[in-house]
Amino acid sequence: MDNCIFCKIIKGELPSEKVYQDEEIIAFVDIKPQAPVHILVIPKKHIDGADTLPAEDAGLTGRLVIAAARIAEQFHLSGGYRIVTNIGKDGGQTVRHLHFHLLGGEKLKDSY
Ligand code: 5GP
Ligand code: ZN
Repeated sequence: MDNCIFCKIIKGELPSEKVYQDEEIIAFVDIKPQAPVHILVIPKKHIDGADTLPAEDAGLTGRLVIAAARIAEQFHLSGGYRIVTNIGKDGGQTVRHLHFHLLGGEKLKDSY
């Protein structure tokens, strides 16, 4: 997608601090961290959000969550962490490219 910030990061047109990469997934540090560890795990393929996930991407979605859990191990988040995806305006989604936030490194504040 031409105007998608995350597609630009995937193509290397915008810089990012990558922490993981494979054929279909990349993960990088959030530019405005909300916790000591705040990583975004995204598919290289553009998908708008969890609301538009095609059924054939069920496997990819599972692999995104598994990648997030592996990255949590890499960052020694043995006390626990949170994996979150926001959807749409009311859900607080500001970048319309599917991403999972991996948050941890402290006792996270309660939220919904
Ligand atoms: P959302 O609000 O859509 O759930 O999450 C988007 C996230 O992307 C936000 O936490 C925001 O800080 C992060 N973000 C936005 N632009 C950039 C960028 O150019 N680079 C990085 N690394 N993170 C970004
Ligand atoms: Zn995109």
